[in-house]
Amino acid sequence: RQSLKVGLIPADGIGKEVIPAARAAIEALGSDIPKLEFVDLQAGFELFARRGTALPEETVEALQECNCALFGAVSSPIKKVTGYSSPIVALRKKLDLYANVRPVVSVAANAGDKPSVDLVVVRENTECLYVKQETITSSETGREARATRLITERASRRIGKMAFEIALKRPRKQVTIIHKSNVLSVTDGLFRESVRGVSHSAEDGRYDGVRIEEQIVDSAVYRLFREPQIYDVMVAPNLYGDIISDAAAALVGSLGLVPSVNAGDNFVMGEPVHGSAPDIAGQDIANPLASIRSAALMLRHLGYGRGADRIDSAVDTVIREGQVLTPDLGGKSKTQEVVAEVLKRI
Ligand code: NAD
Ligand code: MN
Repeated sequence: RQSLKVGLIPADGIGKEVIPAARAAIEALGSDIPKLEFVDLQAGFELFARRGTALPEETVEALQECNCALFGAVSSPIKKVTGYSSPIVALRKKLDLYANVRPVVSVAANAGDKPSVDLVVVRENTECLYVKQETITSSETGREARATRLITERASRRIGKMAFEIALKRPRKQVTIIHKSNVLSVTDGLFRESVRGVSHSAEDGRYDGVRIEEQIVDSAVYRLFREPQIYDVMVAPNLYGDIISDAAAALVGSLGLVPSVNAGDNFVMGEPVHGSAPDIAGQDIANPLASIRSAALMLRHLGYGRGADRIDSAVDTVIREGQVLTPDLGGKSKTQEVVAEVLKRI
């Protein structure tokens, strides 16, 4: 067994409560995965407030020595704070984690029932409006703010390829391209064409078995709420992907259940979809399951499917039994009690 070096970045708020849970879940696997080595790393708004930096250089350097990482959540102030920018957005860029993969799956009430929601949002992670090039000018009629929205063929193709690869491993093998090219014909037009192009230009017809659908983003959200079962893999530019995956989380009961990975060609970082939840931080009631599932997703991405399956089925069992759940799922249990319940079943 070689060893697996895992960077841990709890960051802010409930990140500090749910990342230890993810760590414990991986540790409980024993021999199904390589020998583990954890590296505790710092980032976040609370760190910025103390030290004037939200993402220290030593954190980035240490991550470059790791095989993978787990990130908790950061608090980002809604108003601009001089010198602060979100470390998660920066990390995705620095480590070239160009895909944010977010599976949203409902747990069936009885074992064997088909889940009613079983989709994966594959969100482009490096460009779109998140290049954060905003300007503001004043005119006689008031201020005018502008933002740049960057869509490149290269980034659209590689996120397309990621979506097709994920679809190939799923029973339905369907990719829905989300766009708004009826209005944004140039930017979203390029996204849509580039993703389609991946399929057409694939050698040996690799993606011939994958069905391509497309949907305008607003009607995609409408249909997501009315008939979520029509979706399998949804591939989207950064902002649409962000919104759709948070919205899809509502279909399965709580943001506290939905995991993600930020993936590049050489690195993968697990991250729950939720934020730092300041409203419940420090009370030991945060749902740890999204974070635990993110650890499983990270392992799956690295090829340790057996370990990932063991974590996922332990989580599913705890949800299905419904006895030990945090308040976001209607339960009365503490974070630590849910973690203990999951660990017992791994
Ligand atoms: P949020 O995801 O933190 O919380 C939204 C709601 O869901 C809150 O009521 C919260 O209590 C609840 N919730 C979220 N995760 C939960 C969990 N694990 N268990 C139980 N309940 C949970 O989003 P927000 O309130 O809009 O943002 C709070 C802060 O988090 C902001 O500063 C925002 O910028 C940041 N944020 C960070 C990330 C990230 O790190 N990737 C993502 C979203 C928001
Ligand atoms: Mn979001």
